[in-house]
Amino acid sequence: METAAAESGLAEPHLAHVLASVGLNVEYVRAEGTTLHRLDGDGREVPVLDLVGGFGSLILGHNHPEIVAYARDLLAARIPVHAQFSDSPHAGRLAAALNAVLRRELGDDEPYFAIFASTGAEAIEAAIKHAEFDRHLTLAALAGEIADHAGQVRAAVGAGDAIVPDDAFDLAAPIARPDGVTDRRERLERLVAQLDDWNSRQLARAPLFLVAEKAFHGKLVGSVQLTHNEAFRVPFEALAAQARFLPLDRPEAIQEAVDAERGVLFDLTIANGLVTVVERDFPIFCAFVLEPIQGEGGINVVPPEFGKEARRVCDSIGCPLIVDEIQSGMGRTGAFLASTRVGLRGDYYTLAKSLGGGIAKTSVALVRASRYRKEFELVHSSTFAKDAFSSLVALKVLELLEAGGGAAYRVIEERGRRLSAMLGTVREAFPDVVKDVRGMGLMLGVEFHDRPDSTSPIIQDLVRNGFLGYAVAGHVLREHRIRTFPTGSAANTLRLEPSLQLSDEEITRLESALRDVCAVLRDEDGPRLMGAA
Ligand code: PMP
Repeated sequence: METAAAESGLAEPHLAHVLASVGLNVEYVRAEGTTLHRLDGDGREVPVLDLVGGFGSLILGHNHPEIVAYARDLLAARIPVHAQFSDSPHAGRLAAALNAVLRRELGDDEPYFAIFASTGAEAIEAAIKHAEFDRHLTLAALAGEIADHAGQVRAAVGAGDAIVPDDAFDLAAPIARPDGVTDRRERLERLVAQLDDWNSRQLARAPLFLVAEKAFHGKLVGSVQLTHNEAFRVPFEALAAQARFLPLDRPEAIQEAVDAERGVLFDLTIANGLVTVVERDFPIFCAFVLEPIQGEGGINVVPPEFGKEARRVCDSIGCPLIVDEIQSGMGRTGAFLASTRVGLRGDYYTLAKSLGGGIAKTSVALVRASRYRKEFELVHSSTFAKDAFSSLVALKVLELLEAGGGAAYRVIEERGRRLSAMLGTVREAFPDVVKDVRGMGLMLGVEFHDRPDSTSPIIQDLVRNGFLGYAVAGHVLREHRIRTFPTGSAANTLRLEPSLQLSDEEITRLESALRDVCAVLRDEDGPRLMGAA
């Protein structure tokens, strides 16, 4: 089925071609709830069950009637969508409403300041930019303190109250002794010059990030360096600061990475009339960025021990922990924040996707008050951030999620349990085909075995190209009118992120579709998988 976009050939034609190769290039013309509609050859609508849910943006479903009606009213009332650099009461109300939910879930009264943006990656970039601003100000204060101390030591040495002993030069750093120099002022200047040189080289080091292996935090210039997938990240490495990637099953790797990069500055003090050099730790790590449940990496729940160790190490080095809830938050797991379900505590939280209720494009980085730098507000902005329309729609989304004492969260949890139980039965029936079923709430993944030794050349070819998951999704769409999609960086895992409206009947439909595709794979029936038989 060729789409108009593919025919026109100018809007990412190569991607359209790739999607077409596995039958995923379908044009959808209407959407409501859990259903997308396409047209058949006679122009009649064909419903397709949507389990991709806008890559997790549709916890309340496509075109939720209350959200659509509200949006229509807002536009009919001619609300000023854009009036930048004026009062933004709606963004303020949204920040307050988000705080009320966080307060309940975190059981903590500390407020979080909101930096609004439009997309997920942009919220991440705002968060890391704020963290770097914080690091920059911390470093500037530290450098200022060190300069003040040098001034105080200079005055004491000048007044004859202190001398520079030989062992002041005995540092781990390559500092040469000023052999033969006896003038106390000259000895001090030699020492200060060498320490200054060392310190400025340390201060010029690029910041680093701590990130989990398989993480996905966006594809913009900064955020793509926090995305583990090499194909996405490596070509752009030269453009931004780098991350150290840590395996989720080895929490001790966090401390090891920190130890490997430890940086010190040298400061001066006077003890008993002797000038003494002291080490000051300086923050080379800008932030630890972590998803509570990795979405694009294959629906991997962060083990509690890893989350706890991340928190401990961050606290020990004063590094902020940014919890990326862009895919897992907004109720998707049955709690507003998935991190509260896995015992992970952040200093920042990022939200996007379902925050816009499926129609607005809005995102936010929430920063704990004790780490917030208000000066950031004067150096960071975006034309589209904080607009009245998106803020009001997001408020409506929160109202719907929170209504009836959080009835929506209970529905999500119950639907998730039901869906997960069904997936478990498919796995039991096809252990040779389905490797694993995992996730929480309505953020579930079904991982297929790789089948490199398939007797079908077609399947072998798909496996070689990392396309097996896409072919499975293509089959399920073509044969069962169900839209699924592999996760972005783990193509053998189908992600299921439906809206909370998912019905029992739809779960049953998915079950028969999965049983069918599992049987096709078990039979090594390549032609049938690709719709050629
Ligand atoms: N973080 C996470 C956890 C995500 O899942 C995504 C998107 N899949 C992003 C960041 C980036 O969001 P966007 O595509 O809106 O830039």
